[in-house]
Amino acid sequence: MSGLIGDGEFDHELLAGLGTSIGAAVVWWLDLDDEQLGWMPGLDAVLGVSGSDQDVVRTRLAELVEPLAVTARTAPAWQDFELVQPLDTADGRRWLQFRARLSTKDSARALVGVVADVTRRHNQQQELADLADRYRLLVELAPEAIVVHEAGRIVYANPAAVRFVRAASDADIIGRPITDFVHPSSQAEMLQRIAKLTEPGVTSEPADTVLVRFDGGTIDVESVSVRTTWEGRPAFQVIMRDVTDQKAAAAALRYQAALVAHVSDALIATTSDGVVTSWNPSAESVYGRSAAAAIGRPISEVVGAPLDPVAVLDSGGVVQADHRKADGDALSVRISVARMDDGYVLICADETARRRAEQHFTAVVAAIEEGVLVVGPTGRVESVNPAAERILGVSARDAVGQLASSTELHDETGQQIPLSRFPSAITRTTGKSQHGRIVRALRPDGTRVWLSLSARALNPTGDLPTATVVSFTDITERRMIDSQLEHEATHDALTGLFNRTVTINRLSPGERSHRSGLTAVLFIDLDKFKVINDSLGHSAGDDVLRVVGHRLSRSTRRGDVVGRLGGDEFTVIAYGVAGPEEARAIADHVRAELNKPITVEGRQLHVDASVGIVLAESGDPRDGADLLRDADLAMYQAKTRGRGRISFFDVELRERIQRRLQLEQDLRMAPLGDELWLAYQPIVDLGTNRRTAVEGLLRWTHPRYGLILPGEFITLAEESDLINIVGAHMLYTASREIATHAPELQLTVNLSARQLDDPWLVSSVRNATQKSGLAPSSLCLEITESALMQDPKLAARTLSALRDLGVRLAIDDFGTGHSSLAQLLTLPLDTLKIDRSFTAGLGRSDEAEAIVTSIVAMAHAVDLTVIAEGVEEPAQLEILRALGCDQAQGYHLGRPVPLADL
Ligand code: C2E
Ligand code: CA
Ligand code: CA
Repeated sequence: MSGLIGDGEFDHELLAGLGTSIGAAVVWWLDLDDEQLGWMPGLDAVLGVSGSDQDVVRTRLAELVEPLAVTARTAPAWQDFELVQPLDTADGRRWLQFRARLSTKDSARALVGVVADVTRRHNQQQELADLADRYRLLVELAPEAIVVHEAGRIVYANPAAVRFVRAASDADIIGRPITDFVHPSSQAEMLQRIAKLTEPGVTSEPADTVLVRFDGGTIDVESVSVRTTWEGRPAFQVIMRDVTDQKAAAAALRYQAALVAHVSDALIATTSDGVVTSWNPSAESVYGRSAAAAIGRPISEVVGAPLDPVAVLDSGGVVQADHRKADGDALSVRISVARMDDGYVLICADETARRRAEQHFTAVVAAIEEGVLVVGPTGRVESVNPAAERILGVSARDAVGQLASSTELHDETGQQIPLSRFPSAITRTTGKSQHGRIVRALRPDGTRVWLSLSARALNPTGDLPTATVVSFTDITERRMIDSQLEHEATHDALTGLFNRTVTINRLSPGERSHRSGLTAVLFIDLDKFKVINDSLGHSAGDDVLRVVGHRLSRSTRRGDVVGRLGGDEFTVIAYGVAGPEEARAIADHVRAELNKPITVEGRQLHVDASVGIVLAESGDPRDGADLLRDADLAMYQAKTRGRGRISFFDVELRERIQRRLQLEQDLRMAPLGDELWLAYQPIVDLGTNRRTAVEGLLRWTHPRYGLILPGEFITLAEESDLINIVGAHMLYTASREIATHAPELQLTVNLSARQLDDPWLVSSVRNATQKSGLAPSSLCLEITESALMQDPKLAARTLSALRDLGVRLAIDDFGTGHSSLAQLLTLPLDTLKIDRSFTAGLGRSDEAEAIVTSIVAMAHAVDLTVIAEGVEEPAQLEILRALGCDQAQGYHLGRPVPLADL
């Protein structure tokens, strides 16, 4: 070591490299080869062992530099070493700084260093480091965003700043222009603010700034800028506080204040013991009391009624109450209470007007006759008025809360209405109103009520399902009257069967069109009902008709229509009939049923019926009345064939009718003297065997049907006044022809019953004789027995008038009318014509001969000439002559022929 330090000379160059602290330091060295330590005086004081001997100093030094020695042995030359070592002394901990350099002079390796007490400096540095650390933490943990920008670019951003702008890290921010993060609306202000910060350390006033975040959103901040330096250059540090929440809170406060000022409800704040602390403008108007007059007073006093916020809260926070205005007027209010930290807030809504309207409405609903119920959106009944209780036979208590569908409803056809088709259900689910639905409701007591019912949606918003108001009136009585009237209009009062109108309707083409098969119409006419009626009286007759009606209903099938047309005429309409056989089977069954004895007033009666049947296809164009008429005709035909028969309307019958209709029509147009002409049949005197007279008989040569006999067309003519015209014409023509061509003959002409009524008859007979030149005594007028008996008094008058003209009168078809002979003989007659049915019996039955004998005797007794009609055989002629008959007429003596052929 002596080599190194030599003769006590320092290697100044080496020591100079160890720093300026040399002045306060003591030099030491360590020979790395032999571990020898050396030092300059004063080391003992530095090492805290002042005055100790050399060994103590050495040991302490060796301990302290040991780490340096270890390092130096492995380190390259000329490396500087530094080591700060704590040293605990009686005065406390001290810090020693060892600095050394490796010296390899003269191939000796030594560590040469200085040691200095750096306790003071060490402590100062520590404090600074701590301070910086605390500052850094402060900045990094600050809730405020802190950024430093220099020359317009951000050079530092704390974590809060990173969060504010939602950056991933400060690397996203650093280096970017500060203006990237300042909203355009805030940039001008920021630049002005910075411009004012001319001196280092100057701070700006806090200002509102809007920052732009990475995600495009903004954030409201309050920012303060400070002039500072960054790495020696002027820079600005900006400290920003997030004021979003604060702004929102301020807005909310403003909103609340506006609300309080403008709501229509009274808003009242009280202390926890009920003293008013706030009274909004609406409270002033609702209660008629100014805020000044209310604040500071107990709430119960200013609302005119006891009001305990706690009680309101206890009952759910909302109650209905009656308050009073300052002037004493009653108020109806709905109170809501909220508990606050320091008292209560009460909202008092003035519902006086609404309540009054509601009360009026409730009174009206309670008073009206119409049943009203409100059905909620769930289908449950919410309210029921007294009329509804009465009509439906329920109590409101029971009905409210029930499903509206728990009442059974039927429609007019008697079908039960499914729940989904209930008027209330339709309105509830669709919102569509239902009007005037006619339904039948079942009351809980089992009785039924007819309702005319409407349903309307109750909510104006249109949300579905909706509450529904259902209103209805009881129309049971009206319906009963209606249905009774309808029944009367459609039913026969006596039998309860359908009447003619319904029968005709049910036979209409429309009714039949949708039915398969044939429609059979049975026209049923009781036989000899008139006899029952006349002999037993009308009430017995009615009883029979009722029984018949009942039996018809019983004997027909479901769906068949049984009707009574009037009198003893009934109908059965059977639809879907396969053919005539089935129709006949129905008719047979009906007849068999009617044939069973009927007991009326203790008597057993037997009834039979004649049945006419029409079968109509679904496309048959005949209407109900046509079919009924045809069935009537068929029935008529059945009757003419004998009673208790069944007859079908057929084509032949129709043709007969068509022919009849055609003739009826053509007869009006038939030219007299052309198509209509006269045939003459001779009448022979049995005494002289000479032709003494002719009977003029009408003939019609029809252009289509050929020769038609009077038996067919006279009745047609009789049904209209045509007979009078035709009769008068015929009378004149015959008179003229006979007067002209056979004046020696007597002429007989037939008068029909209708002609007897003709007021012009006498004058037309006079006219005929005068104009034709036929002597009235040559003319004989024949009138049938039955015509005379229709109105004997009128007949007597007419006959007298005719007799006065000088014409002769004959009674025709005598013996067929069952008339009173005594009465007949009072008439002014000249001749009696025995009906040909008696003539036909002559030579066959003794009875006919006896009748003819007595007629002849009787006629002769009153000076009547007797003519026998219908003589067809010579034998008849002989018998008639033998019996004293005066004259005879018949095919045997001559057929009716044109005058020229006579
Ligand atoms: P009526 O007055 O009894 O006339 C006699 C009818 O008997 C005639 O039928 C005649 O042709 C028919 N007749 C004559 N002889 C025989 C015979 O031997 N056997 C049979 N079976 N019949 C015989 P017609 O011409 O068909 O007349 C029928 C009826 O029509 C007449 O019956 C008469 O009541 C009525 N009639 C005919 N012409 C007229 C008329 O100009 N005016 C009115 N009001 N009635 C008339
Ligand atoms: Ca006659
Ligand atoms: Ca006759």
